[in-house]
Amino acid sequence: YTMSKLVLILTQVDKPFASDAEQHSVQLLKRAGLTVEALCETDERVAELLPDASFLIIRSNKVPAEMIDRAPKLELIVRAGAGYDNVDLEHATSKNIYVMNTPGQNATAVAELVFSLIHSAVRPINGKSGTELKNKKFGILGFGNIGKQVAMIAKGYGMVVEVYDMFETSDTAMRHGVGFAESTVEVFRDKDYMSLHIPSTKETKGTVDRECLAAMSPGAVLVNTARVDVIDHEALVAHLQADPGFKYLSDVDQKTDILQSLMPNRQILIPPKKMGAQTFEANFNAACAAAQQVIDFMQKGITRFAVNNPVPPELKLYTDLATSLGRFSAAYVPKPREVQYTCYGALNAYHDTFVQYILKGLFEQGGHGKAMTPVEAVSLAEEHSIDIEMRNPDNRKGYGLAITLGFVDDDTRVEVRGTIVGREPEISRVNDFKTRIPLREAIYVLVETADHPGVEYQIAQNIVEAG
Ligand code: NAD
Repeated sequence: YTMSKLVLILTQVDKPFASDAEQHSVQLLKRAGLTVEALCETDERVAELLPDASFLIIRSNKVPAEMIDRAPKLELIVRAGAGYDNVDLEHATSKNIYVMNTPGQNATAVAELVFSLIHSAVRPINGKSGTELKNKKFGILGFGNIGKQVAMIAKGYGMVVEVYDMFETSDTAMRHGVGFAESTVEVFRDKDYMSLHIPSTKETKGTVDRECLAAMSPGAVLVNTARVDVIDHEALVAHLQADPGFKYLSDVDQKTDILQSLMPNRQILIPPKKMGAQTFEANFNAACAAAQQVIDFMQKGITRFAVNNPVPPELKLYTDLATSLGRFSAAYVPKPREVQYTCYGALNAYHDTFVQYILKGLFEQGGHGKAMTPVEAVSLAEEHSIDIEMRNPDNRKGYGLAITLGFVDDDTRVEVRGTIVGREPEISRVNDFKTRIPLREAIYVLVETADHPGVEYQIAQNIVEAG
């Protein structure tokens, strides 16, 4: 079922993959048994192939909701790069499609560009006098893959580096030998240079506001290789006008009329196109990482670089529970003709997702013993004409967050309930037996027997004797 899956690699007219990068990733994918088509997004064959595509590898191309709707077999979109604001994440998530990026692959390219921009602005090769970087105060907003590389280079120049990251702690900063500010505005405070490395999300829009800009030193330099909308542009223009020594350097911004009008006095530096990731190495690494991530997802269900999750992070453990319950039940009824399931409490809102994981467990145990993706499991269930029945939970029963499944075939039926206890999946009921069985990688022997003295001992004895 994995042999003929189609991977569509879509590039842009002005942003193809380097030919080496494309060749190598196509080779990787084909060797893994996939069919691969590499097309420019404007090619008319895209419309023809989308309905059959299971995997999509893209660059900065847009993947809107209507495109996702035209690809009903889609399981995974990999953005070969760091930012993924070009994909309609919410829509993909609602269709249970994973979205991944390839973090870190272009970090060096972007970090080095930050310093190309800075040198072009403060030390252009034009025979005139410039300024040095040593001992200048350098702030970094967003201490992820790129932020860390920028910090390393800045330290090499002898700059005094301070960072801020909403999801990091001062320990991380300390390990990298840099200071950690207390808040967004504090990382701008008194800085001669400021570099932005936060993603563009609903939460980060307009992060760099009037207050942040005013906190920098007079005549400071702001570098934006993140995204255009993380800055409040009205505040930026006002600040540029108020401080004629202030400089704004960005490969992701556009030369709007108002910014253009500030170019003659060298306050603005904006290259003709986004070029942070435009190095041979970044291009090659991102293409190969994207291909490898598709293969790992298909062969082992690895979702390490997923930027979405069809269930919220706090319920993630329950997807593992669903898979384990599916596996466990399949040991009783390996070929059910009917699968019934109930998701209790907050789990019920994501029952569509949990059933995919239940089926994944069923086929991994009862089928070829081979790992598969949740989406794959659903199509396999359709192929086998398995009836799937979702039952509404009666939350008054007080099971908390739990999943019950029933696997039924012509002459057997098993009903299993499970929950999470202390982060560990556990079975709480098997048929009529209330029990507590931790679900771990192990061999289970389940015996239903009348309760006579010595029976349990005898069974254990038999197992031991059988080696
Ligand atoms: P990353 O995910 O490794 O790092 C982003 C960091 O920002 C994370 O550590 C995260 O905790 C932090 N963060 C998120 N929201 C924050 C907030 N509100 N305040 C403070 N910190 C916050 O990503 P990365 O690889 O370092 O890339 C960063 C961004 O750079 C990408 O999202 C992309 O938009 C941009 N980028 C641009 C180019 C280019 O061509 N110019 C190329 C690659 C990436």
